[in-house]
Amino acid sequence: MFDWNKGFVLDFDKATGLSAAAGSTKRPLSRMRGMYSDTAAEAEMIKNNDPLVYEFYELGAPDDAGDVAAGTSIVYPGKVGEEYFMTKGHFHTILETAEIYYTLSGTGYMLTENTQGDWRAHKLEAGKMVYVPKGYAHRSVNTGDTPLVTFFAFRGDAGHDYGTIEDKGFRKLIVCRGGVPELIDNPKWK
Ligand code: MN
Repeated sequence: MFDWNKGFVLDFDKATGLSAAAGSTKRPLSRMRGMYSDTAAEAEMIKNNDPLVYEFYELGAPDDAGDVAAGTSIVYPGKVGEEYFMTKGHFHTILETAEIYYTLSGTGYMLTENTQGDWRAHKLEAGKMVYVPKGYAHRSVNTGDTPLVTFFAFRGDAGHDYGTIEDKGFRKLIVCRGGVPELIDNPKWK
């Protein structure tokens, strides 16, 4: 579909990102089982309607260090208990590779942390870019009431390590308290 060796131009819808140009991977809540703090609320929601939490579109760049993998991610508004809808989050398989996220619409946070214990919560807002440095796991969290749409780009061969976060979680959670986002320690972090 795209000529990675000669170049190409792509139609790009600012509201929905690449939805017309690439296939999406969907993550309903049942595909994130165990990742939310309130496991009872999580189980109940999966049983009731198993909501779509997020999806992402990838252009399918070659798996090569010289190429740039890019796409869009859409995190839907919602909460599991008091915890906002979020992505699973991951490290890159090649740990020392960075990533850029540019927010197209919506609001939220990019939670990041490295294996030495440093962590950050970067604000995601339309028109702003977040640079996720090499070595940092990253997860986007939708704290608004509209879809959070971001465009991302990273080294083509970086790969994804989801397993570490599935096992350990993030050090911090972003929860809704008194109607506003609050950053708290993850009681289950190992
Ligand atoms: Mn990444």
